[in-house]
Amino acid sequence: MGIGTGMSGARTVYDYLVVGAGIAGSVIAERLASQAGKKVLVCDRRPHIAGNAYDHLNDDGLLVHEYGPHIFHTNSPEVFAHLSQFTKWRPYEHRVVARVDGKDYPMPINRTTVNMVYGLNLQTEEECEAFFPTIRLPIEHPRNSEHVAISGVGRELYQKFIRGYTRRHWGLDPSQLDASVVSRIPSRCSTDDRYFTDKFQYMPLHGYTRMFEHMLSHPNITVVLNADYRELADFLPFKQMVYTGPVDEFFGYRYGKLPYLSLAFKHETHDREWVLPAPVVNSADEKVPYDRVTEFKYLTGQAHPKSSIVYEYPIHDANGDPYYPIPRPENAEVYRKYKALADDTPGVYFVGRLATYKYYNMDQVTAQALATFKRIVTGQTATVAGATAEAPPPPPLSVVRPALAADVVPSTTVVQPSAEAVISNGSTTLGAA
Ligand code: FAD
Repeated sequence: MGIGTGMSGARTVYDYLVVGAGIAGSVIAERLASQAGKKVLVCDRRPHIAGNAYDHLNDDGLLVHEYGPHIFHTNSPEVFAHLSQFTKWRPYEHRVVARVDGKDYPMPINRTTVNMVYGLNLQTEEECEAFFPTIRLPIEHPRNSEHVAISGVGRELYQKFIRGYTRRHWGLDPSQLDASVVSRIPSRCSTDDRYFTDKFQYMPLHGYTRMFEHMLSHPNITVVLNADYRELADFLPFKQMVYTGPVDEFFGYRYGKLPYLSLAFKHETHDREWVLPAPVVNSADEKVPYDRVTEFKYLTGQAHPKSSIVYEYPIHDANGDPYYPIPRPENAEVYRKYKALADDTPGVYFVGRLATYKYYNMDQVTAQALATFKRIVTGQTATVAGATAEAPPPPPLSVVRPALAADVVPSTTVVQPSAEAVISNGSTTLGAA
């Protein structure tokens, strides 16, 4: 079956074009197809589905996350139940250490960290809670991340664990960053060394890509990869759009480019069973060029004689791939202008981290997508537990995908194009993105 051509040879008019096969696009596409009976075309300019959550087996057969480690965690039973339709899970509680001067400290800061740094032997949470006020420097109205950090944990812990990491990561001193950035780093007086405390902490048993494949396997969904939506829109007609790409790009950068922090990932495989003392080692020392290094086998539970790790290097380049929106008031102001344009664009639903210029975890994006789907079908604003207040309005498969094994998407038409000629329809040929 040709893309865009129905059994009769007449052109298929898709009910929805979903731009982006990441979690935002895939969650909405699946709902539109399975619950609303809509014909959905999903496109992505990357050569794979799953967006930034994409994982795959590397040359040594190790499951790795191409765009850095992704750990699923949520407090939303609704989000967890929703995704559980498409994957089995493996319980996984994430742990992180911060390396300073060759020594590894539990992160977030807990009682063990405090005892190690101050040479103490605080035995109970009460003792630790009594100690914190002696190091904190309270600031009544913290205006930036430095204020938040020293109010919370004092100057010494701030300088040891937060300042260098933040300066390298954002390319800005914490004193130049919104108060919201460092408030993401909690501290505790227990010895709990789990990175997250959410109710549900799991990894998809067979990986994220497999979960996305199951989501997109509905017969009403067609997936086209290596294709920018602007190259499709002219000859694959559709009625409405769900857009999960960058909002500034959608509007031709009318108000300028929204700044992002970019990342470079350096993957390595080592000829030994384990490499790191913990799943993630953060570099608190500003002189180390990478933010953190992750060993995937901790996350995936895979048994293998070799082990793969990935280093993440922050890239401060306006033309790099967009990973983290830079949380500064002037950027929020530019986004507000784009949001006003988006709100005024009928027939297009803007969903996900790039379309709403916000750092969201996967569970938040899932909640946002489910809320958008409800809004699409009811025409009314809806909320889903776990969705943020900002959840914007919005949001089967013949698959055109070069890189996936054909066996994993059941009941799906799979067309595997070459990288050069992604879709051919009459005289129109799309190139790789
Ligand atoms: P994306 O996954 O980015 O998907 C958007 C897709 O749209 C992309 O595939 C892109 O190619 C496509 N696209 C854009 N423009 C176009 C166009 N013009 N035409 C066609 N396609 C287009 N979250 C967690 O919950 N846990 C974690 O541990 C975690 N770790 C992270 C680690 C890193 C390094 C980063 C950067 C993020 C992490 N996240 C984590 C966040 C997680 O990646 C996001 O929540 C999730 O990827 C957002 O999904 P999305 O669909 O909004 O965006």
